[in-house]
Amino acid sequence: MRKRIVAGNWKMNLDHREGARLAGEILGGLKNRVPQCEVVVMPPFTSLHAVGEALRGSSVSLGAQDLWHEESGAFTGEVSAGMISAAGCRYVLVGHSERRHILGEGRDLLSKKLRAALKGGLSPIYCVGELIEEREAGRAEETVSRQVEEVLGGLDAVGMSKVAIAYEPVWAIGTGKTATTGDASGMHGVIRDLLSKLFGRGTAGETPILYGGSVKPDNARALLSADDIDGALVGGASLASDSFLGIVFPT
Ligand code: PEP
Repeated sequence: MRKRIVAGNWKMNLDHREGARLAGEILGGLKNRVPQCEVVVMPPFTSLHAVGEALRGSSVSLGAQDLWHEESGAFTGEVSAGMISAAGCRYVLVGHSERRHILGEGRDLLSKKLRAALKGGLSPIYCVGELIEEREAGRAEETVSRQVEEVLGGLDAVGMSKVAIAYEPVWAIGTGKTATTGDASGMHGVIRDLLSKLFGRGTAGETPILYGGSVKPDNARALLSADDIDGALVGGASLASDSFLGIVFPT
C-alpha cells in the first residue's frame, strides 16, 4: 500500500525553543492515537537539532526545507544533504514554490538538489504547481507535467521509490484559497499517469502525491479522502498543534 504523509512546513517561523515546544505538543496530541499517515515536521535549519531531540524515540519524522547540492566546500550559507541527514532528517523539500518564485530556483538547480538529496540518503518531497496565470490560460496540466518530467525524468526505480511529490497550486499557498477536491484529485491523476509513462505502473502506484495549499482542519477530510491524494503538505496550519493535529486526524 502507498505511504501516506502529512508534513508541516514551518517555513521561516519558530526559533528552536518555540519549535521544540510545538513538537512536544504534537507528540502530546498523538499519545494513544495512531495516525493513518506518517507525520513529518520541517523546521528551519536552526531548529532541527532541538526539534529532533524533542521528537527522539517518537514516530514523528524530521525534515528540512531545502538543501544545497554539493557535499561540502565554499558555499557560504548553504547546508548539504549529508549535514541534514546527520541532523536526523529523513525528508527534505525540493522545489517549494517560494524557492522557485522568490529565490529563482529552476530546473537545473532543482535536478541537482533532488539527486543530491537521494545520494545523501534523504527522501525528497518534490513540489510542483502552477501560477494563477498558467491556470487561467488553461496551462496548469502542461506546467505541472513539465515540472515533474524535467526534474524526475531519468531517475531509476530505486531513486523514485524514495521520492514523494507535492502538488501545490501556487495561487493556493498561504492565500486561504484551496483547489476544489475535484481539481486537486484530477491533477494528482494527471501526475500519476505521467509517472506511469515515465517509470511504469508499479512505481507510479507507489509514489505518494501530497496536496498543499491552504489545507486546514475544515477542508482536510475532503481533500485527504479524494482519489490519488496521499496526504498533505501544510504551511500555516502546521504552526499550531491544534490545527496540525486536526489535519493529521481529519474529522
Ligand atoms: C506550503 O507552504 O507548502 C503551504 C502549502 O502553505 P499553506 O498551507 O500556508 O498554504
